[in-house]
Amino acid sequence: MLFLCIVSEAFAYGVVKEPMVVGAYAIFIPVALIIYFSFREGILGGCIASAITIAYYFYIIITRHYKGTQLNAGIETTIILGLLYFLLADIIGWLKQTIDGMIDREADEKRRLQAIIQQLPVGVLITDGKGRLLERNKQLDKILGIKMPIGLQLGRDTLTNIKINGENIKPTESPLFHALTSGKPVVGEEMVYERKNGKKVFLRVSSTPIQNSKKHVIAAASIISDITQEKELNRQKDDFLSMASHELKTPITSLKMFIELLVKQKDTVKATYYMRRISDQADRLKELTNDLLDVSRIQTGKLRFSKEVFNLSEVVRDTIEGLQGTTKKHELILKDGYKETVVGDRYRIYQVLVNLISNAMKYSSQGKKIIVRIKKEKNTVVVSVQDFGIGIDAEQQERIFDRLYQVTDPHEKTFPGLGLGLYISKEIIERHKGKMWVESEKGKGSTFSFSMPLRQKIL
Ligand code: ADP
Repeated sequence: MLFLCIVSEAFAYGVVKEPMVVGAYAIFIPVALIIYFSFREGILGGCIASAITIAYYFYIIITRHYKGTQLNAGIETTIILGLLYFLLADIIGWLKQTIDGMIDREADEKRRLQAIIQQLPVGVLITDGKGRLLERNKQLDKILGIKMPIGLQLGRDTLTNIKINGENIKPTESPLFHALTSGKPVVGEEMVYERKNGKKVFLRVSSTPIQNSKKHVIAAASIISDITQEKELNRQKDDFLSMASHELKTPITSLKMFIELLVKQKDTVKATYYMRRISDQADRLKELTNDLLDVSRIQTGKLRFSKEVFNLSEVVRDTIEGLQGTTKKHELILKDGYKETVVGDRYRIYQVLVNLISNAMKYSSQGKKIIVRIKKEKNTVVVSVQDFGIGIDAEQQERIFDRLYQVTDPHEKTFPGLGLGLYISKEIIERHKGKMWVESEKGKGSTFSFSMPLRQKIL
């Protein structure tokens, strides 16, 4: 602004050599500059430009020695123009600040929305009205296993490996495009998506169109959740139900059969044999129902433990003696290197031992020997049960402690069981502040071990 005043003076005195020549341009150019500064700097910038212009006008009045009516007219015009300039600077500056505020608010809003979208535990995908990607979050990248660039035209060559009910669908048949083309939301559609690495994931997709004030679809948003685990859990529950019914049916059928035989039997030796079998089957039923009850107690946090000091090797010896009586195929060997006592629930530890040793017998129909070891390691006592049976694959070893998990191998005959024993045993040991683990090699046998702290405060 000052520069303009200097140029104007230089023009009047230096170029045209006539100070009174300062005329209309001294009004139009400052007005243009006041508008410019008001837009650029806001009210303050506009007001400073106005003040400099007014000061320049007064400078002209003084330096050109205006007198009489010319002086009065000059002062009046300057005051009126000054008021107009300030008004102009205020209006334009206010407009600029309001627009800036709106832009900032909108940017803040957008940032907030983006932060929320990024934090959502589900995948989010937003496109414009033509299916061009506007926004997506990290969760979506994780679910799909790809990072789609913003601006990507969906529906051409991406996501072609989506299946609904086993059929490949065209991208244009996806819920998002349905929402875009029909203007109606699609809720909870389930589909299978195959990642680039071949892994299949189950997805639940909901898409909704976004309309402008004229009811035109200008965008669409999809919420995508990975329901693979949910599906797997449901499948496990279904399997469990059919397995549990099967497992319960077997002893019940045998019970019924032996009771019928017993009723007809006159020979006391045979009758005693049937009665023993009935008792065995009743025990099996009791075991199964106890396992089921224990699992539900673990789930509801109601598994209770007593706390007593007991001799662990005594419990191990008793368990081995009891189980040796049930098998002629296996030789149970105890290698005992620890004689001290531990604190905990004697019956529950016995239950763990029964589970490990009976598993060792169940999964080593060929192997004769089962070795049980007790030894002291640092502040713990470690009990291990080694068999020389079918062994477990490295990848299955982590999962066998999961609820309902059973190794399925097409080459091996299936063994009876509900896949609950190890889950319950591990929970019992962990509640005693101990650990349970397995070392195994497929075809060579397994060693299941657990540790317990040495007589410390537990439970
Ligand atoms: P269950 O024996 O009733 O199926 P468990 O929870 O006791 O259930 O065992 C889970 C799975 O771990 C079993 O189905 C079996 O596949 C595997 N497993 C357990 N113990 C052994 C073992 N000693 N040798 C080989 N596999 C075993």
